[in-house]
Amino acid sequence: MKKKADPTLPETFTLDNILTTFATDENARTFLESWIWPRGPVCPRCKQTDPLRVYRMECASVRAGVHNCKDCRRQFTVTVNTIFEDSHIPIRKWIIGLFLMAASKKGMSSLQFQRILGLGSYRTALFMTDRIRFVLQDGGPFERKIKGHVEIDECYYGPKTRKAGPGSKDKKVAVVGLVERETGQRRSYVLKRVSADGMAKMIDENVEDGATINTDASGLYDRIPTWYDHKSVNHVESSFSLLRRGVIGTFRSLTTKYLPLYVGEFDFRFNQRKVTDGERMVAMLKKTTGKRTTLKALKA
Ligand SMILES: [Zn+2]
Repeated sequence: MKKKADPTLPETFTLDNILTTFATDENARTFLESWIWPRGPVCPRCKQTDPLRVYRMECASVRAGVHNCKDCRRQFTVTVNTIFEDSHIPIRKWIIGLFLMAASKKGMSSLQFQRILGLGSYRTALFMTDRIRFVLQDGGPFERKIKGHVEIDECYYGPKTRKAGPGSKDKKVAVVGLVERETGQRRSYVLKRVSADGMAKMIDENVEDGATINTDASGLYDRIPTWYDHKSVNHVESSFSLLRRGVIGTFRSLTTKYLPLYVGEFDFRFNQRKVTDGERMVAMLKKTTGKRTTLKALKA
């Protein structure tokens, strides 16, 4: 007999039950607290966990969710060291935003984000989507080199609004996807200088020596180093259809400077393609904690 689906489990999360489960900001914060502090609050500075030393402040003058550490006399909330820190956006909107991003196969523009979440400004929407995309970059499936059989495929991106050619700042760039056949995982790179040398260098840096590389017959692959077993065929199965439609359809005016952030977002969803939207959202949520130093880099 099949068990009845439990709406509080991530794999069954849908937009509908997220809106119910996180109906108030209080609900959302409680969820985040039980998620980040499964054994009770932890002081972010001295790591104290003793409930007599670290406790929730209950007085009316203090904003909800503030905790106090007696040891370092510091006040903090659960959002310290997460991407939700230093923002006035309710946690509830962050959670719904994460779900929207996890569930949108072709990506979601910041403008759509602003409208759907009812955010005060486009700037706020950009702040949220950039932060989410930024943490999705980290780690990923390949902290090691890609190995075994590797399928490589490329697509081109260049804003249509500006003239390409000499002197143009936004020439076409290539987005190159490397898929490891054994794991089905993809990692994509933005190749700013589209050349056979640039391609060879990128492959050398990211693919283990001795790997078998399948590409199409493009001249871009003419200089692949001899320590790889390179096979070129007329057609390589493309893993890029969603990226193409997303980048072309959703993010028409993207400048190439930010392209790696968007490409990382598409890789993240591609690599999590076999799980439910809810599970994908939870995988995103896991990446949102312990990010303080990386977020400083985003501001810079
Ligand atoms: Zn402390």
